[in-house]
Amino acid sequence: MLDADFFRRWMAVTSTTVDREAERLTALDSPIGDADHGSNLRRGFSAVRAALDKEPPATPGAVLTRSGRLLISTVGGASGPLYGTLLRRTGKALGDAPEVSREQLAEALRTGVAAVRQLGGAAPGDKTMIDALVPAVDALGDSFAAARAAAEKGAVATTPMRARKGRASYLGERSIGHQDPGATSAALLIACLAETSETSEASEASGTYEAGEVSGG
Ligand code: ADP
Ligand code: MG
Repeated sequence: MLDADFFRRWMAVTSTTVDREAERLTALDSPIGDADHGSNLRRGFSAVRAALDKEPPATPGAVLTRSGRLLISTVGGASGPLYGTLLRRTGKALGDAPEVSREQLAEALRTGVAAVRQLGGAAPGDKTMIDALVPAVDALGDSFAAARAAAEKGAVATTPMRARKGRASYLGERSIGHQDPGATSAALLIACLAETSETSEASEASGTYEAGEVSGG
């Protein structure tokens, strides 16, 4: 089961990863956008991390709704309201349960992704974050690792697409041949989710090992 601490760690790992990848995200946003995607997300997720460290919310739902609201208020670009809506609506769907299962998270994320589609009007194939998020949510029912692989594949698949939403759509045909920055960052968000699940499994396994050592010694 996934508790509030798991979700807080997911947001912290995402902040670290976005920091590390900010230049690459901004570079992707340069030929088909305005070269600010990395700095937008870096600003947003640092604010999220600082707020969650200062005052840790008690439930998974509260971690995500708080994070979503902060992204909406701190990120100027299109991606702020879109990612903000994703996290806020996913958090709302989780309600106030103290712990949730991976399957419950998959269902809640499906609601969050539907809200992003409604807000931005993008469908799969439009060369946006939706192209990474939709396959990720579908695969999350199987495993965290499957979701990570599906999101990465979805992001790579945006390269030959012609953008139909967002700034890149102004370029028409010239948007073809570039990987979408938002689909790339969405794949990072899902990779960070998988990474968080792996580090919790590792610490659970080492906990068992220590207990075994004590009883054995
Ligand atoms: P801006 O385009 O305002 O500069 P960012 O550079 O931070 O904002 O984010 C750009 C990314 O946002 C795009 O690569 C795309 O994935 C995503 N995006 C833009 N418009 C939409 C939309 N209508 N629906 C879904 N995603 C969108
Ligand atoms: Mg941009």
